[in-house]
Amino acid sequence: MIVCDRCTCFATSVVASARPLSRVPLERRVEFGARAAAATLRAASRMLARSLAARNAVVVARLHRASARRIVAATKRSDMSSDVRARGDGVAFGPIAIPGAQVFYETSQTFALVNLKPVVPGHVLVCPRRSTPKFTDLSDDEISDLWRTVAVIQRALEREHGTSSSTLAIQDGPLAGQTVPHVHVHVLPRRVGDFARNDDVYDDLERWNADGSRALDDDRPPRSVEEMRAEADALRALF
Ligand code: AMP
Repeated sequence: MIVCDRCTCFATSVVASARPLSRVPLERRVEFGARAAAATLRAASRMLARSLAARNAVVVARLHRASARRIVAATKRSDMSSDVRARGDGVAFGPIAIPGAQVFYETSQTFALVNLKPVVPGHVLVCPRRSTPKFTDLSDDEISDLWRTVAVIQRALEREHGTSSSTLAIQDGPLAGQTVPHVHVHVLPRRVGDFARNDDVYDDLERWNADGSRALDDDRPPRSVEEMRAEADALRALF
């Protein structure tokens, strides 16, 4: 082997001071060996870094592809939601048969209806299609679809009523004030001064008779079928 006596590199047979390794003093040979080992290590770690970077790039690309697939699937789902809306059939709201004319928005798993006795103008109900009393009875898919639909409706109502605030409420079970045993989200667009005290809205959602029973028929008269139909028609046109 030929080495350079000046800089101790190995590739130097053309350098004037190059000489066979056998003629290099022992301590210099040890130094050459250490440098050579360090250089080999550096080269190996550069190769490893390059291969890790390549592997990372593959993993990152795979993640990007997976998230792109999720976005496409979510978009398809929300397209589907709006495709099947407002079919006009009647729906079951617990034991109550709601005519199609009262339903203004539908997805495969959710529907929204105008209220018999709204607490404020624009107070509507959003329900899972499956009639079950408890929110905790719903599957993950039903919960996702219910809240996605609430968001769509809330946005439209806020635009329509010129406000940026809403009360969303679920009275989940009779002890919480539920009177219709079918999960429903109350969506109420809120306005300045709509209640003397802001939180009085909850008292109005939760009215009780003097004898302690829950009053479905409190002092607000139920609205006529025509009035509810007209409101549902107007709301349907928003989507
Ligand atoms: P909750 O007291 O939370 O169970 O709410 C029941 C809601 O259902 C109230 O907002 C009622 O006004 C409403 N409701 C009851 N019967 C009907 C009906 N036939 N059509 C529309 N809304 C109704």
